Amino acid sequence: MNVLLLGAGGREHAFAWKLTQSPLLEKLWIAPGNAGTAICGENVPISQLDFKGIKQFVISNEINIVIVGPEDPLVSGIRDFFIEDPELNHVKLIGPSKRGAMLEGSKDFAKEFMNRHNIPTAAHKTFYSEYLPKAIEYLHTIEPPYVLKADGLAAGKGVVICSDLRQAETELEDMLKNLKFGKASSKVVIEQFLSGIELSVFVLTDGRSYKILPEAKDYKRIGEGDTGPNTGGMGAISPVPFADKVFLQKVEERVIIPTIKGLEEENIDYKGFVFIGLMNVNGDPFVIEYNVRMGDPETEAVLPRIKSDFLEMLVAVADEKLDKVDLQIDDRTAATVMLVSKGYPGDYEKEKQITGFEKVSGSLVFHAGTAAKEGGVVTNGGRVIAVTSLENSLQQALQRSFENAEIIDFEGKNYRKDIGKDLLTYI
Ligand code: AMP
Repeated sequence: MNVLLLGAGGREHAFAWKLTQSPLLEKLWIAPGNAGTAICGENVPISQLDFKGIKQFVISNEINIVIVGPEDPLVSGIRDFFIEDPELNHVKLIGPSKRGAMLEGSKDFAKEFMNRHNIPTAAHKTFYSEYLPKAIEYLHTIEPPYVLKADGLAAGKGVVICSDLRQAETELEDMLKNLKFGKASSKVVIEQFLSGIELSVFVLTDGRSYKILPEAKDYKRIGEGDTGPNTGGMGAISPVPFADKVFLQKVEERVIIPTIKGLEEENIDYKGFVFIGLMNVNGDPFVIEYNVRMGDPETEAVLPRIKSDFLEMLVAVADEKLDKVDLQIDDRTAATVMLVSKGYPGDYEKEKQITGFEKVSGSLVFHAGTAAKEGGVVTNGGRVIAVTSLENSLQQALQRSFENAEIIDFEGKNYRKDIGKDLLTYI
């Protein structure tokens, strides 16, 4: 098969790496890709939002399947664009329709969907810009901490948690009136605070049947001990030791089955990944958020644990035959440590030479923000390299990833040395 993969991060390098293991793969292109994806296939300089450019490329290269990595093209309706175009509607595409993508594109839509299908989630109320006084009045009726969420996509920054009422009022005004997150915060969801431990569960669905992929825990804050500002993700561990059989059974019964049934009942065309962010509250799962694609860096920990032919699974998704394929999972533990640029998640410099790749042993190296330059590889983003190790125990996987995180080097390199250590207490 000829495959076009959209995206440019560590998630896409992990996808590309996995796809190259499939005997079904004829040729892989990645748009726009990075220096890592270029090892697995051919990068093409097309933006993931340039639907017309993508169409031309798909037709002239006889692409059989398009795999969409990030959320933006999905929220912008790339699936609908393909289906509505007679020249494209025979091409398989992995990713939900625009309406399905609203599970990520609108927090209010996601909350209402969960309420319609009795999926456990925090109680909420949604307010529009013109109702700021009502929203402030509502804050006075609930207990702290206050969870305020911009309704739309805000590059992972749209959630603010305040412990103080005055601070919450100012924040709410900033979001609703001053449009702190642009149009995304012209609507704000105010939510009950949930106290517990977080994890992410990933589901692949053809809209009717589903497969549960390995779960993962990620590390969002820049600083050790979960301190400092949020990032795109500093590391991930899979499996998650506190997600035992009993808990995962509850997740399947209370969250996954009603989600897939809900999509079907509402005639939402959904062929792709559902990323379910969960809070484990005293052993019971509550949904914090849906994403309509795989996570980054969770993908770098999850995909190495999938033993089955990934391309075969994605083709089965597109053909609505997912129930016919077998998903085999590696029992070992994957530990992913992200190397980031100095200053990230604030301003950072690019174009720093990356060295040491050839000295890495026993780990997978996924490129996140890199570019090829003059025969070498340079940094090209805040998150630069994800180092993943797959070992029999979490301790071994962490040790291996940290060893190789030291070996790969670039000026200003930073990484969290406590990734996964909190989970050792559950083993
Ligand atoms: P989201 O973008 O919805 O995943 O929210 C970002 C982060 O905010 C989550 O990963 C949680 O750590 C936190 N968060 C979101 N909603 C809640 C909630 N209702 N209670 C406690 N923490 C939350």
